[in-house]
Parts: sequence; structure tokens; C-alpha cells
Amino acid sequence: MGVKILVVEDEEKLARFIELELRHEGYEVEKAFDGRTALDMAMSNDYTLILLDIMLPGLNGLEVLRRLQMDKPTPVILLTARDAVMDKVSGLDAGAVDYITKPFAIEELLARIRVALKLHCRDISENGLNNVVNKAGMSSDTNSNNTNTGGMSTSTTTDGTGITSEIASTGINSNPAKRSALGETYTWKALVLDVPRHRVTYNGEEIELTNREFLMLKTLLENMDIVLSRDTLLERVCGYEYVGETNVIDVYVRYLRTKIDEEYGVKMIQTVRGVGYVIKAE
Ligand code: CA
Repeated sequence: MGVKILVVEDEEKLARFIELELRHEGYEVEKAFDGRTALDMAMSNDYTLILLDIMLPGLNGLEVLRRLQMDKPTPVILLTARDAVMDKVSGLDAGAVDYITKPFAIEELLARIRVALKLHCRDISENGLNNVVNKAGMSSDTNSNNTNTGGMSTSTTTDGTGITSEIASTGINSNPAKRSALGETYTWKALVLDVPRHRVTYNGEEIELTNREFLMLKTLLENMDIVLSRDTLLERVCGYEYVGETNVIDVYVRYLRTKIDEEYGVKMIQTVRGVGYVIKAE
């Protein structure tokens, strides 16, 4: 028994793309292309998680979410259009556990799914239904040898800096809508990282970054002045499946330095020998 995810998205190409990526991560996936079918499927199956687009033919995503919350509460991550702040707020009010703005980086979606599953898993454990957790195919703290579960683990990794919050790194906090409504951006000197637009500029000049470079930079900027270990960065940027291959992080740092430090004559990401990396507030 694996984690079973329902992908509800009327853009069939996008739905197919998400399906392939999720299958690659080891999740079971089913798809629905309209709201009514999605609701029927959700009512008659037990999905671990539902990815739900808001703009859907028939019944829109928010209606699906509301009906589902009344009759069969299931963790839902909403897929929303850019700048649809009201949708996000209504969605979270209606009980969605998170939302992600289209277009999104697949790594970000995967990270949010992992966090949602982890949080959901914790909810289940608190209700004393640990067997459900195991049924969902997730490893737990008491069974941490089993790491081959779609890259998930409910254990929390602590590194030397005592920074443990993967949740913070994926932008999920008590009120993500508020953060986004205020325009979630990070700045350092003339550099601006604009999360909703997935865009990085220096002095207004756009810097082309890959998804993982973007995620890496975002993680460092979110944790300004905090030294992050390679393990922590790896977990946040690549997910659990890469645990151990921390030299991947050095490679991303090198790419970022080539694209930013060398280009603009600054020293942004600092190496803390034997510990990791940090961006210091100027
Ligand atoms: Ca749509």
C-alpha cells in the first residue's frame, strides 16, 4: 500500500506531467479532469492527499473542497492561478492544507506534498491510529530503517545548527496566504527574489536560475544569518531521497556564485568551514 494521490486538473497535459512526476516519486496517482468526477472519486476512494485545481469545469475546486470537508475530510493542496489571492484565502478558510501557485516548480510541489503528508501523518498519529500511518506506506520514527517509501520519513532531522524546520523551508506556516498577499519577496543588497513570480533580479536585471538553484537561494534568504548545514540544504532543496549526497549542494552553490557573485562582484553565499553555508544580512 502506497500513498495514493488524486490529481484534479483540467489541463490534461499538466495533469499528465504531475502524474508522471508523482509516480516517479513512488506515489500511486489517479486523475480527474473536472470537479464533479473529482468529487465522486474522492467520495468513493480513500486518497491520502488530493491536489485540486481551483478553475475547473462543472464544479469548481473550492466547491469540491467545501463538499469534501463536510462529508469526507481529506488533505487538499490547491493549485491556484497567480495573483488569485482571494481564492487562496477562501481555499485555506475552506480547509485546504496548503496551496501552490501555477506555474510552479515541480520540486516545490513535491516538497509541499511531503510536508502535507508529514503533517497529515502526525494528525493521524495523534488520534492514536498509528496503523493507518503504516498502511499509508510511510516510515515513522520508530521504524526509521525503512527509508524507501517514496522519499518520505516522519522523523525530523536535526543538524549541528539545531535548525529542524523543514516546514518553514517550504513556505508552509500558519498563514501562507498572508505572506503571499503581502508579496513574498526576499532581498539582499540589490538582489530581489520574488517567490510568487518565481523570479530573481539584481539591480532589476533578471537572473536565470534553475528550479533547484532558485529553491536553494530562497532557502538561504529565508534563513538569513543562520548557517545551514549541507544536510539541511539538501533536504530542503532536493528532498530526502538525496540524503548523503551533500556534494550536490556544493555544486549548486558554485552555480549560484557563477551567476550572481561573479556577475555582480559581490560575496553573497558564505562558506562556514565544517558547517555549511550562510547569507549574511548587509
Ligand atoms: Ca484549470
